[in-house]
Amino acid sequence: MSDTIDYRTLKINGIYQQNAAADLMLRVKLPAGVLSAVQATAVADLAGDFAGGALHLTCRGNVELHGLRGEQLAQIFRRLQAVGLTSRGACGGAVRAVACSTDGDNFDRIQLLVERLHRHFTGNPHFEGLPKKFKLAVENGYQGAHHLCQDLALVYLGWEGERELCDLWVAGGLGRQPQEAFLLANRVPVERLLPLVEGVLRVYQQHTPAGKRLKHLLAEIGEPQFRTLLAKETVGAPSLPLASPLDDQLGAAIAPGTGGWIELPVLAGQLAADDLRRAAAIAVEAGDGFLAISREQNVLVSLSAGVDEQTLRVALQQAGLLPAEPFLRCRACPGSHECPKGLVATRDLLRQLDEVLGTRGRARSWAVSGCPNGCSQPQLADYGIVGVRKATESQEDRYDLLHRDGEGFGQPLRTGLSRDELLAALAELG
Ligand code: SF4
Repeated sequence: MSDTIDYRTLKINGIYQQNAAADLMLRVKLPAGVLSAVQATAVADLAGDFAGGALHLTCRGNVELHGLRGEQLAQIFRRLQAVGLTSRGACGGAVRAVACSTDGDNFDRIQLLVERLHRHFTGNPHFEGLPKKFKLAVENGYQGAHHLCQDLALVYLGWEGERELCDLWVAGGLGRQPQEAFLLANRVPVERLLPLVEGVLRVYQQHTPAGKRLKHLLAEIGEPQFRTLLAKETVGAPSLPLASPLDDQLGAAIAPGTGGWIELPVLAGQLAADDLRRAAAIAVEAGDGFLAISREQNVLVSLSAGVDEQTLRVALQQAGLLPAEPFLRCRACPGSHECPKGLVATRDLLRQLDEVLGTRGRARSWAVSGCPNGCSQPQLADYGIVGVRKATESQEDRYDLLHRDGEGFGQPLRTGLSRDELLAALAELG
C-alpha cells in the first residue's frame, strides 16, 4: 500500500509521512479544542486500535495519531466522520484548525466565532492550495501575546452597544524567522470579519510564492503595498454575519466550558488512550459531557451550570487523572522521539526539567521545541528551550534558552548550551 500513497493528496487531508518506514501521522481538527465525550471516546478507540494506545495533543488544541499505516486510513476516516470530526486542512496549504483561548468570560462568543470560521474554511476549495499553511486564531484579549504569532488573529473585544468588535492582526509567525504580527484593523464589527479574512487570504494566495508564509510576503512588499492589495480585494464586499439569531439565543446555554474547566495535566501532550476514555466517561457521569484540549496540551473537563465541581474533581482524582499538587506547565513538541526534523529528545528533557526546577518552576510557563521550527511556541512562554544541534558520536546536543519579559516574543537569554549547561542555567534562575 505504501508504494501507491500520494503523500501530497494525503497532506491536505491532515496526514504527514513520519519516517522512511512510511509511518503516518494524522492530525484531527478540533474547533476551539472542544470535543464531546462521544468524540473523545471515538478518538481514544482509534488510538487504541491503530496508534499504539497513545495520542499527541498539540498546542493549537488538536489531536494527532502517530504510527499509522496507509491501509488503515479508510477505516479511520470513516470512524472520524461518524462522530463529526475531520482532518481536512489540518496539514498542507490550507486554513489550519482555528485556535483560541479556552479561558475567560467570553468563551461562549469566542467558541461561536471559531466554529463559524472552521465551517467556512474547512474543505472550501477557494481557500485550499495556499502557498503554505495559514494559521488563524481567535484570542480572548491580549494576554499571552498569542495574537503575535498567527498569520491572522482576531482579538475579541466584546460588545459596544449593539456592535460586537474584534481587532485584527496579521502576518505573524514563529519558526526560524520569528515575526510579530502587526495591527491591520482595530475595532472591526464581527460582520465585517469574514470579508476581511477572505481578502487577506486572497492577497496571500495570489502574491506569495509556493512554500512561503504571509510574513514572507509582507517582508517582500511591505505594509503599504499589502494594504493597497487588500483594499482592492475587499472593496464592495458585503458584510456577512458570523453569528445567527439562533446562536445568540442558544450559544451561551449550549457552549461547553463557559462555566470554566478542570485541567488534567498531560506530560508533553502524550496522552494514553485509556486516560482519555476514562476522562470522557467521568465527563458524562459527573460533568456536562464535554472536554477540550488546551494550548498547554492538557485535557480540560467542562464545567457548566448544574455541574457539581467538587464531585467532578473527586471522580477525576480517584481515577488518577487529577493530581492533588500543582504541576509544571510546559508545552513540548514530539522532538526526535517522533518528528523527523527533531534534533533533541524533548520528552526526556521535560522529565529532567521538573526535577531541576522544583516548585519554583511551577509558577512559570515553559515550552520545549525539538528544533528551531518552534512548534511548541517557545517565544510565547516565560522560558523557552529550543534544540539547535543534534548529538552525534563526536558532539553533544545543544540548546538555546529564551526568556519572555514584556509584551512581545521571548528573546535568547543563552545560546548553544550543552544539556548540562542548560540544566545548570535553569537551576540558577531566581
Ligand atoms: S519544533 Fe521541530 S522537532 Fe518539534 S515538531 Fe516542530 S519540526 Fe518537529
